[in-house]
Amino acid sequence: MDDCVFCKIIKGEIPSKTIYEDEIVKVFMDINPDDNGHMLIVPKKHIADFTELDDETALHINKIVKELKDKVYDRLNPDGIRFVNNYGVYQLVKHYHLHLIPCYEPKQPIVDVDIIYDKLK
Ligand code: AMP
Ligand code: ZN
Repeated sequence: MDDCVFCKIIKGEIPSKTIYEDEIVKVFMDINPDDNGHMLIVPKKHIADFTELDDETALHINKIVKELKDKVYDRLNPDGIRFVNNYGVYQLVKHYHLHLIPCYEPKQPIVDVDIIYDKLK
């Protein structure tokens, strides 16, 4: 979709800090993290929201998420991870994405995305 920010990122028209990429998904750092290591798992094809997500893509995302979890635990040592899938008025970008948000006890101050990206890439 021409006016979709995530389609533009996938096409390379907008830069992103990419953690992982294959033919089906792209994973990149959230520009405005809720916590250190906040990333987005985004299918390369324009899927508006989770109701349009096909089983094949969902299964692939499920597999990639487990690999990302290992990497996040290895590099960032969080206490847990929240997976967030916003919908309706809570979904600001109308291109399906799953948030992966590491969380820390006690809560850590948010540091520059580049510092975290250096640990994850
Ligand atoms: P949602 O409310 O689930 O649609 O959240 C959209 C998310 O996309 C927010 O956490 C934004 O910070 C993030 N976001 C928006 N534009 C960009 C961008 N250009 N690069 C990385 N993350 C972005
Ligand atoms: Zn899109």
